[in-house]
Amino acid sequence: MDKQAVRHTLRQLAAVLELKGEDAVRVRALQRAARSELLATGRSSALDELREQVPPGLVEMLRIPGLGAAKVRQIHESLAIEALAELEAAAGDGRLAALPRFGAKTAESVRRGIAALRQTTGLRLFHHAQDEIEAVRRALAGLEGGGILRVEIAGTVRRRCEVIAELDLVAVHEGRAARETLVRRLGQAPGVTEIARREGNVTLRLASGTVVDVLLTTPERFGLDWIRATGSPAHVAALETRARAMGVSVSAAFPDERSVYRALGLAWVPPELREGSGELDAAAGGGGRLPRLVEQKDLRGFLHCHSNYSDGTVTIADWATACRTAGYEWVGITDHSMSSAYAGGLRSEDVARQHAEIDEVNARVGDIRVLKGVEADILADGTLDYGPDVLDRFDFVIGSIHSRFGMAEAEMTRRVLTAMEDPHLTILGHPTGRLLLQREPYAIDLEQVLAKAAALGIAVEVNADPHRLDLDWRMVRRARELGVTLSIGADAHSTGGMTNVAVGLGIARKGWLEPDAVLNARDADAFLAFARARLVAA
Ligand SMILES: [Zn+2]
Ligand SMILES: [Zn+2]
Repeated sequence: MDKQAVRHTLRQLAAVLELKGEDAVRVRALQRAARSELLATGRSSALDELREQVPPGLVEMLRIPGLGAAKVRQIHESLAIEALAELEAAAGDGRLAALPRFGAKTAESVRRGIAALRQTTGLRLFHHAQDEIEAVRRALAGLEGGGILRVEIAGTVRRRCEVIAELDLVAVHEGRAARETLVRRLGQAPGVTEIARREGNVTLRLASGTVVDVLLTTPERFGLDWIRATGSPAHVAALETRARAMGVSVSAAFPDERSVYRALGLAWVPPELREGSGELDAAAGGGGRLPRLVEQKDLRGFLHCHSNYSDGTVTIADWATACRTAGYEWVGITDHSMSSAYAGGLRSEDVARQHAEIDEVNARVGDIRVLKGVEADILADGTLDYGPDVLDRFDFVIGSIHSRFGMAEAEMTRRVLTAMEDPHLTILGHPTGRLLLQREPYAIDLEQVLAKAAALGIAVEVNADPHRLDLDWRMVRRARELGVTLSIGADAHSTGGMTNVAVGLGIARKGWLEPDAVLNARDADAFLAFARARLVAA
């Protein structure tokens, strides 16, 4: 790592420490320790671990010019804000301005700062991008007198990519004559500060800093243009090759996507699969080899959530009612284990109290079953947090790494493989530890881990936290080839985090995942049987 990168990382370390409220003396001591580590290995396990202890949305906020750790902490503590989009809303509706030491001027500069951040970094997480583009889509669809028939999201957001660089829309207008009116109206749309035009494309720059590409099309060409604007380039190129080989003319009328695929002898390909990795072969011959992708309605259980027994803000009863309302049959509560002291991990002596509360909620709240799970730390030597006597008392165990991210690959792989030997382990949680745009995955031989999971009947998590989306979708597909069962885990710390599941489903679908391979698509008894099978065999 060069000197500049080291300085940058040390500044990040200091900022995260300040977010935690550490004093200056301790910050300097940890920086000194980290400096030698960075120079030697290129990564700082201190920083990696600290990132586990602070909501990732707060770390994102540190990148807003003029917003130091003290102010971010104040925002978090007084407004319970954890995400950039929430902060933007608070800066717009007066809540931020009302905070002591803030005021209207600071709120406005935060709002501009978020906009500038979008312009400079260009990259954003899926959920931020989806919120932004959906707002623009709605604004354009609502434009009156512009002759807009339909506006749809395209590009990487539609393909459910985990990190988004560009925002794309397709707008359908009434015919070529209407195009000029439409372009003029787009330029006058609320929030649009700049418009650039080339051929059938307009690029809109919004006051928020967001740049959106809009492909203009007519009803006759909509199907073809939506496919083009959705991509991926590899998928579109494969379609074009096929069209040439079959002598299909692209100047025909294609009012919807299905008509394009049909003309090419293909079944419609769900956008998540359009990555040029075998989807056309699967879509040929009637499409029988396309997967039946998992959907929200397949999920019977809500997995991986934290209650007020660790770092969640929600009571057990609140989780039960929220999950019942959302249509789930069961919910698996998984608080942090005792080694995660920073996250208020459940001490052994509190387990009985939590379980009594779960029993009480099960007896009182109908139409939902609350299961007793735990997210146990995988310790440095590969043992699970708590001894077997305590683990025996849980219905199921998610094992996750929350510390010592800097291990060499062989050592880290051994650590996880060792943890998998423990028959209490039901699910391997966020298996690479990555935080998108913030922390690289730890070094680990996933191929070995997935093979062992398949052999032993351990599920591997697709963690649905939009900052994680871990297992990566490319590896989800590999896991299925190896016969691994996957679970879709919300990793929610409040009922607001229930929306994570939709984002995680996108990644699961992108990994060609079908419901029969999803652990929480099973009913509670089948789920418990899966968890117990290993203990019975042991
Ligand atoms: Zn975790
Ligand atoms: Zn968790």
